[in-house]
Amino acid sequence: MDKKWVYLFDEGNASMKSLLGGKGANLSEMNSIGLPVPPGMTVTTEACLAFYENNKEMSEEMVVQIHNNLRVIEEKIGKKFGDSENPLLVSVRSGAAVSMPGMMDTILNLGLNDEAVVGMAKNTENPRFAYDSYRRFIQMFSDVVLSVPKYLFEKPLEDIKISNNYTSDTEITADQLIDLVNSYKKIYLKEVGESFPQDPFVQLKMAIEAVFRSWNNARAITYRNIHGLSHKMGTAVTVQSMVFGNMGNDCGTGVAFSRNPATGEKRLFGEFLMNAQGEDVVAGIRTPLNIEELGQVMPSVFQQFVEITNKLENHYKDMQDIEFTIEKSQLYILQTRTGKRTAEAALRSAVEMVEEGLISQEEAIMRIQPSTLDQLLHPTFDSKTMDAVKELTKGLPASPGAATGKVYFTAKEAVVATKNGESVILVRKETSPEDIEGMNVAKGILTARGGMTSHAAVVARGMGKCCVAGCDEVKVDEENRQFSIRGEVFEEGSEISLDGSTGKVYRGVIKTMEPNLSGNFGKLMAWADKIRNLDIRTNADTPKDASTAVRFGAEGIGLCRTEHMFFDEKRIPVVRRMILSDSVEKRQTTLEELLVFQKEDFKAIYRVLKDKPVTVRLLDPPLHEFLPTEEEDILKLAEQMKVSVSTLKEVISDLHEFNPMLGHRGCRLAITYPEIAVMQTRAIMEAAVEVSQEDQLSIIPEIMIPLVGITKEFAYLKKIVVSTVEQIFDEKQHSLEYLVGTMMEVPRATLIADQIAEISEFFSFGTNDLTQMGFGFSRDDSGKFISEYMDKEILPSDPFQTIDQEGIGKLVEMGVKLGRSTKPNLKIGVCGEHGGDPMSIEFFNNVGLDYVSCSPYRVPIARLAAAQAVLKK
Ligand code: ADP
Ligand code: MG
Ligand code: MG
Repeated sequence: MDKKWVYLFDEGNASMKSLLGGKGANLSEMNSIGLPVPPGMTVTTEACLAFYENNKEMSEEMVVQIHNNLRVIEEKIGKKFGDSENPLLVSVRSGAAVSMPGMMDTILNLGLNDEAVVGMAKNTENPRFAYDSYRRFIQMFSDVVLSVPKYLFEKPLEDIKISNNYTSDTEITADQLIDLVNSYKKIYLKEVGESFPQDPFVQLKMAIEAVFRSWNNARAITYRNIHGLSHKMGTAVTVQSMVFGNMGNDCGTGVAFSRNPATGEKRLFGEFLMNAQGEDVVAGIRTPLNIEELGQVMPSVFQQFVEITNKLENHYKDMQDIEFTIEKSQLYILQTRTGKRTAEAALRSAVEMVEEGLISQEEAIMRIQPSTLDQLLHPTFDSKTMDAVKELTKGLPASPGAATGKVYFTAKEAVVATKNGESVILVRKETSPEDIEGMNVAKGILTARGGMTSHAAVVARGMGKCCVAGCDEVKVDEENRQFSIRGEVFEEGSEISLDGSTGKVYRGVIKTMEPNLSGNFGKLMAWADKIRNLDIRTNADTPKDASTAVRFGAEGIGLCRTEHMFFDEKRIPVVRRMILSDSVEKRQTTLEELLVFQKEDFKAIYRVLKDKPVTVRLLDPPLHEFLPTEEEDILKLAEQMKVSVSTLKEVISDLHEFNPMLGHRGCRLAITYPEIAVMQTRAIMEAAVEVSQEDQLSIIPEIMIPLVGITKEFAYLKKIVVSTVEQIFDEKQHSLEYLVGTMMEVPRATLIADQIAEISEFFSFGTNDLTQMGFGFSRDDSGKFISEYMDKEILPSDPFQTIDQEGIGKLVEMGVKLGRSTKPNLKIGVCGEHGGDPMSIEFFNNVGLDYVSCSPYRVPIARLAAAQAVLKK
């Protein structure tokens, strides 16, 4: 038997999207549930692929099947293709499995020719309408099928209007339209070299082949590349009998959503126009009316439409986006699809649909894309004011949210300006730990360099602060306190706005709105919490971040970076003195000072977390990061520290490393300066004991040793930590439970995880460094080439954002397996940036981790993603 290339609407259903395209499959489905759908057929995506294999020509077999099915449609509605009495007209519509703007435009009124137009004029008793349809069809067909430029057709139309002093198309008479059709046919002949096809079957074949060809036009290919869609799916073509919304005042056309796509409110949302056809509603020539006004214009049609939208929602169990046409008071449904919606609408509609009994909690959880929750947690721009502002440039959407304020170029000035009550946008080439104070006070951060894991991006995300990073077009001139974008200069104090969710930079002030964590948000999160297996912790270094995270549902701290506490204005001089100490004794004294600070920090954090676990990492960065680099700052520091400039420079050059990321840092520091580890252990444990006693809380500190690659590194430091703790317990006459564990971030550690697990009480995968060292990509510089790697399909995604499952993921899996082979109950988590990335979370769930830890604002995302990971499994 011949292959089936064509399906009547009666023969398909919604599950056949890959064969019939989304549009065709849904038209079949609506037809089968008894909705008023004009009859039609769909030529399959397989036919499209076969067309390409057959030298871009339809086979005889396909053409025959199309004809035969057309006969069936003719019978059904009692009209004939090309008939001079009662002609059948059709629309030719493209539709791939995934909705894809950029492909062919729809052709309406196909089937008109010199004879059919006479029939149509007679039938409708409206020659003007018939000839207007014909001339539009010739223009549309020429444009869409044969790429004849539209303006060629606009000229004769304009000429008629000018010579008759008409102001609108509607003044053109039927006779003039007949002339116009003749001119159009002449244009066609001249441009195409053949006369306009009179045989409707020829028109149809040409139109279908044009849709097939449009699958591979430049716009469509670009669209698929951007959205990572396969080029091998092909498009289907739907051929459907026309209904006319433009035959008089009892006709119309419109588009409506079953719920509000911006807010999610369960209430029809849409527009319509009376006496209009096709895309008139979206074309903006006339102002459409609100869908609810249809209730006044045509009450019974509106009632029927409301019932249909309810039926469609109940049937598809989701918000629908519906196209309809009314012909002589008869309602026809021409399309339905899942409605695109904002994050807010997605959340509200999903929760309400559960409450209405339409979907289950699990379905609601699967319906929300975790990353979109971000939009609900940060300030956003008031969309009403967005049209008035000008977009200046675009960088990476490094940390979501919206910020508006005045530009300052240094942390110091940012602090001063904030004290003066200004909203500050900190603009820098790139940020470094010295900028922390400025970043902390700024409303938003804009950097010219750096990727999604640059210092600015990571710190801003941690702070929940809006950040646009790696904005190439921004040329920062710190010296002259200005930056420029394509030559336009912005002085200090200029007003700009940043959208960290899109990476866009705007000129001027835009009104922002605070997030509203309404009841729906809490409900969805509670459903997700019941389902997930992974615990969600947070990376937080300050009581403020910690309490934000707890508010968002964090179940502990997975990474508290102690060094961030060192950059505080009051502490950095002490840290610097510690580094400049030329004897262990001097170092001890400064460490005593730091101990006081750190202990207070930890106590405050414990009080926020109460009985939830807190993992504190011992000092990690290389010491040079705490010293200045600029000559001016070095001179100032020498004076403050009362050391000679040359001594200070000597220290700085001693600390200089060619490759600091692979240098004297992490546990290597603690091994050479054990007194630092002792001080930090003291701060962590004394604070824990004191808070346990003072607040009757059972604090369980987890001391984490970074950058371990050799078992003996860990053994050496664990011994120091344990003996310090025992001493504290002795002194305080109070003991408590605590853990000493290691980070898994040096690839070697994952290879000997079984050995390390024998003495380590937990593992925390530092997947940032593991990725850096596993790939040999510097995470500070890789932004320069990773996007090209993705363009050239060498990497599917940025491995610093989504864990590289096949490589780095294998290291994680191996570490887990080896670790648990010697310690079956070993607690294992992740504290890299990947801990907040939904795809990576799914992987971590599947390899059996106990928890992921992420920045506070990603906690809700991780909660949802962890639940989805369970449901997907
Ligand atoms: P798109 O994929 O761009 O939405 P469609 O194929 O849905 O394109 O067609 C665009 C518009 O053309 C529809 O919204 C509808 O108004 C009109 N249209 C399509 N088919 C018909 C038809 N059979 N009768 C009347 N109007 C139609
Ligand atoms: Mg449509
Ligand atoms: Mg690290």
